[in-house]
Amino acid sequence: MEIKRNVLLNPGPATTTDTVKLAQIVPDICPREQEFAKLMKGLRADLLKVVHADPAEYTSVLFTGSGTINMDVCLNSLLPADKKILVINNGAYSTRAVEICEAYGLPHINLQFPVDERPDLTVVEQTLKDNTDIALVYITHNETGTGLLNPIREIGALAHKYGAIFVTDTTSTLAMRPIDVAADNIDFCMSSAQKGLMAMTGLSFIIGRTDIIKASKDYPMRSYYCNLYLQYEYFEKTGEMHFTPPVQTIYSLIQALKEYFEEGEEAKWARHTRVFNAIHEGIAKLGFKDIIKREWQAGLVVSVKYPDDPNWSFEKVHDYCYERGFTIYPGKISTTNTFRLCALGAIDEADIHDFFKVFEEACRAYNIQIPAKYND
Ligand SMILES: *Cc1c(COP(=O)(O)O)cnc(C)c1O
Repeated sequence: MEIKRNVLLNPGPATTTDTVKLAQIVPDICPREQEFAKLMKGLRADLLKVVHADPAEYTSVLFTGSGTINMDVCLNSLLPADKKILVINNGAYSTRAVEICEAYGLPHINLQFPVDERPDLTVVEQTLKDNTDIALVYITHNETGTGLLNPIREIGALAHKYGAIFVTDTTSTLAMRPIDVAADNIDFCMSSAQKGLMAMTGLSFIIGRTDIIKASKDYPMRSYYCNLYLQYEYFEKTGEMHFTPPVQTIYSLIQALKEYFEEGEEAKWARHTRVFNAIHEGIAKLGFKDIIKREWQAGLVVSVKYPDDPNWSFEKVHDYCYERGFTIYPGKISTTNTFRLCALGAIDEADIHDFFKVFEEACRAYNIQIPAKYND
């Protein structure tokens, strides 16, 4: 079976291997069968291994949905009555977390920092000192909208110092940048099948501390479908998801995890780093500029500034590349126009070299100046 290979440089879903794609083609099965429950049991255990979580302390809970469901679940399920959430917000994904707090009417502090800067830890600490009712500290690990890496280990330590739990959105780092939940002071982290693990869309998962999930049984229940304790309890009782799982996505994720462990954590991170470096070389060669300080970048997303060129058109360049099998993606910053080139997926530096040939052709085809023109 021939499947056209596209190189996705958008921030997920990622380019997948054919073996992962084909793993979805299986005999029909009712997911209530023991055979399927057994598959999910193995899958949940393997997810813990990806972040080196001790199964005596941590568990993984699966949900049918895109990555945002994890954010929703953690925020609405893990806040005790009369307590507050602190969202450390320096980007579009943390802003989404704030919107979730607003939607549920959860007491929260939206502690904002510029999108191109790391949060000031003294301000974070002062906020924790001043608000003793903060029970949950939340931050995005890699702000996928810009590619900025937040210092989760330090923030987790601060959360714990002031008696709060630490939840971090690792959707765009997990299974790419090595994570160790205990060393990184993480109580809850999350991702979905189609990002670092390079499987299909439709399945998301939270990895977190079992004792806290059990304690959350007594917290106000703010959602029925998206409640962490209910889903956990159902898994523990029956081995199944409370409601219909994305069956075929689960088969593909099991294959993707097999390939993940075969490639190995370090080798995979080294490959993403090669891709990331190749992206930087490519944009530098054509005179394009990025917007986040290099040492603050997570090594997975490059945010490229639109050139000050009247002929520049993201849409035209996008379409030219798309027709030739390469997908580029708009940025997510309200103040600066950017597009993004991401290093996730089953790709390597040769794909990036091929991409830049096409990208340069696109620029020439539309009379966009090379090297790219900037007024500042
Ligand atoms: C992709 C992503 C999500 C989830 O987005 P969906 O569109 O729901 O898949 C959440 N957080 C971060 C940081 C992400 O990169």
